[in-house]
Amino acid sequence: MSVLVYTESWQGRFRKSTYEAVSYASETARLLNTNVIALAFGNESDDELLKLGNYGANKVFTAKEIEKGDSKSTSELLAIISDNSNIIVFASTYTSKMTAPRLAAKIKAGIVSNVISLPSSFTPLKIKRKSFSGKAIEETIINTEKAIILLASNAYGLVECESNCEIEKIDHKSNANVTIKNQEIASGKVSLSEAEIVISAGRGLKGPENWGMIEELAKLLNAATACSKPVSDIGWRPHGEHVGQTGIVIAPNLYIAVGISGAIQHLAGVNSSKTTVVVNTDAEAPFFKAADYGIVGDAFDVIPKLIEEIKRIQ
Ligand SMILES: Cc1cc2nc3c(=O)[nH]c(=O)nc-3n(C[C@H](O)[C@H](O)[C@H](O)COP(=O)(O)OP(=O)(O)OC[C@H]3O[C@@H](n4cnc5c(N)ncnc54)[C@H](O)[C@@H]3O)c2cc1C
Repeated sequence: MSVLVYTESWQGRFRKSTYEAVSYASETARLLNTNVIALAFGNESDDELLKLGNYGANKVFTAKEIEKGDSKSTSELLAIISDNSNIIVFASTYTSKMTAPRLAAKIKAGIVSNVISLPSSFTPLKIKRKSFSGKAIEETIINTEKAIILLASNAYGLVECESNCEIEKIDHKSNANVTIKNQEIASGKVSLSEAEIVISAGRGLKGPENWGMIEELAKLLNAATACSKPVSDIGWRPHGEHVGQTGIVIAPNLYIAVGISGAIQHLAGVNSSKTTVVVNTDAEAPFFKAADYGIVGDAFDVIPKLIEEIKRIQ
């Protein structure tokens, strides 16, 4: 009974969250004294597929005939491959959130999302997950024979552990009859959900014309940019940058929040950041309670100085 991992790649390269899911699956497999198999759907080269072995995968099935993003077809194939697996691991991404529930229904598996630790027991499967927008941690028990685990991003980290990895190509024609007609690509930017550093700004920036300094700081730090909900609602920034309870949930190593009050709905999407720095003119802003470092000051003074200092150091 192998541990199966669902993988995702972008432009032929596996996402960091996939390597994290394989690392997690590898340790789970070690505890169960079994091996790890992975299923890939993209146009990855053999060299790229074999990189999964650096994180513990023993075998990679690759099905190039299937459109990635077509969760009907991917879940169909996963259902076949998972015949020999009782634990199936996904990273928490948009695609996996579409695919994993379909798979769960097909194979009658219990499903647990936002997982933050390895199982503490396997019979039955007991596992910790974040709940209530990250404000609580609960232990979930899955009683079904098969279990699907969606790992919260940055919850486990990357653990290199070399293993002999082989590739097997699968020729699977899907019955799902889905065609993806168009994909719009936001290119040249660091992906928000994968970024190690995120620079985020809110209504305190007064208008979209003032985002130049945020983008400059992000570029210097190789960071992604994000924003609060009202900022994307008014159209100052694209909706893809909105973080929070109703936006993207992120867990970067460093989150810098500029001119954001720190409303509970915003914190729900960023409170798993490892280190949080807040810049706000109002010393009473709620965000300071959640910050590791706080600067009470005007963003229009603080950010240019920060940029200057980073340039000097670099
Ligand atoms: C159901 C629901 C879901 C929601 N989901 C989300 C969500 O997912 N994400 C989200 O972000 N919000 C969400 N909200 C909205 C949330 O409640 C807040 O209204 C929002 O986060 C506030 O955005 P803000 O901090 O940018 O703006 P404001 O609350 O207006 O705060 C601006 C901050 O900037 C500071 N400031 C002003 N000038 C400067 C300056 N020159 N330099 C530095 N600081 C300055 C101010 O002191 C203030 O603290 C949701 C609300 C509801 C009801």
